Amino acid sequence: MNVSIIGTGYVGLVTGIAFAHAGHHVICVGRNPDKVESINAGKAPFFEPGLDILLRRVIAQKRFIASVDFSRSVIASDITIVAVGTPTVDGSIDLTQVKDAVALVGEALFKKRSYHVVTVKSTVVPGTTEQVVWPILAQASAKSAKDVGLCMNPEFLREGNALEDALDPDRIVIGSLDNKSARVYAKLFAKNTCPKFFTNLSTAEMSKYVSNVLLATLVSFSNEIGDIAAQTPGVDIVDVWQTVHADRRWSPKVGNKRITPGIIHYLFSGCGYGGSCFPKDTKALYRFASDKGVSMSILGSTIAINDKQPHRLVELASRALGELRGKRVAVLGLSFKPNTDDMRESPALIIMRELVARGADVTCHDPEAYKAEVPESLHQLGVTLEKNYEGAIKNAEAVILVTAWDVYRKISPQEFVRLMAHPLVIDGRRIYDPLKFIKAGVHYVAVGRGPGL
Ligand code: NAD
Repeated sequence: MNVSIIGTGYVGLVTGIAFAHAGHHVICVGRNPDKVESINAGKAPFFEPGLDILLRRVIAQKRFIASVDFSRSVIASDITIVAVGTPTVDGSIDLTQVKDAVALVGEALFKKRSYHVVTVKSTVVPGTTEQVVWPILAQASAKSAKDVGLCMNPEFLREGNALEDALDPDRIVIGSLDNKSARVYAKLFAKNTCPKFFTNLSTAEMSKYVSNVLLATLVSFSNEIGDIAAQTPGVDIVDVWQTVHADRRWSPKVGNKRITPGIIHYLFSGCGYGGSCFPKDTKALYRFASDKGVSMSILGSTIAINDKQPHRLVELASRALGELRGKRVAVLGLSFKPNTDDMRESPALIIMRELVARGADVTCHDPEAYKAEVPESLHQLGVTLEKNYEGAIKNAEAVILVTAWDVYRKISPQEFVRLMAHPLVIDGRRIYDPLKFIKAGVHYVAVGRGPGL
């Protein structure tokens, strides 16, 4: 099929490349000519494992192109997917990008004669596609449901695994205004064998929120449990989680072996969730519910716990070091999780902001974030970004491990002792072996680790 995708961000570009790989012809529409040029030269504007290789392949196969020509791209396709940003502003979802993009799609469709399906892929609160998107589209295109189809197809890809998720999704949810829209749109997924759910528009919208909010709740539950463990002499939450995970309802038995499902990674104590989805989606659903007079108390606590969690890391540093003013503190890992360079709502930013506010001299490192260019915001924050982790931890009086990149897992306790002025390591992701670290002379402090250990 011929597909146009509005937005060349994580979702737009990754799904566009995946559709092209599946044999469709894709035009990704962007606003920034430099970015579009770079994409057409085979270089994605962000880091995602394997993405550039597949991008170059689908360009060479002439199945993928990026363009700034909005109207022509829409007209040249049978399906237009809207994959623009839906940030949360003051606790509510901001639909400005969606509304603007849909109005432009409608204007382009005004001139089109054949049937066209418009699909919302951006995460939007239930009711948006039918009550906000459809009126704008119908008015701008001057067409009815006979000529324009409407679907809502939430995206479940995970940054860091985005390509794999887009090529081989767990499930496909297609909400639609009518059967024809769904039938035409579903052709895009003809080769996918995963479960497919055909629903109304609001159910599709809601399925995305429930999926994200459930995972965020597990993270906050795990961090709350980690906090009580940290106050309990002799208890280490890592040992506790091992016993919990061994329940075969979490780690099912397949033959004689136990498997470790991905869900277990959400039942673990750390620095809190970040990224472009969980923080904004939890807040958007909370506001959506309270606007309807429903108080979601579990979700409210999930958000509140997560807001506090990064500050606990700074508290651990200050408990071990005393006054932070003038102390050199290194932060390892800036992206909100490994295998992505996405720093949106990363716990590292909150931690660094507080360290700087308390007068610490902060150095930091990340293997991927800011490789191309260090943004002004980081300079303004007053932290020093080092090119390698050795530079960041050299002469530091404390290291706070925030993102569990593989390269940090490999740092030996001896290396910390050798490079740091005072080998205090605050393990925010529980990636190090406490006994090995203590034996090597590291002052080891960690989330979820009670006194006396
Ligand atoms: P993003 O900010 O990385 O990308 C959005 C892009 O849309 C931006 O590059 C922006 O410039 C572009 N855009 C906005 N208006 C445009 C227009 N009129 N014409 C052309 N381009 C336009 O956002 P994202 O991370 O790709 O997320 C997009 C949506 O998908 C959001 O609703 C998000 O919640 C949802 N989502 C994101 C993820 C994820 O992991 N990033 C996963 C699932 C769902």
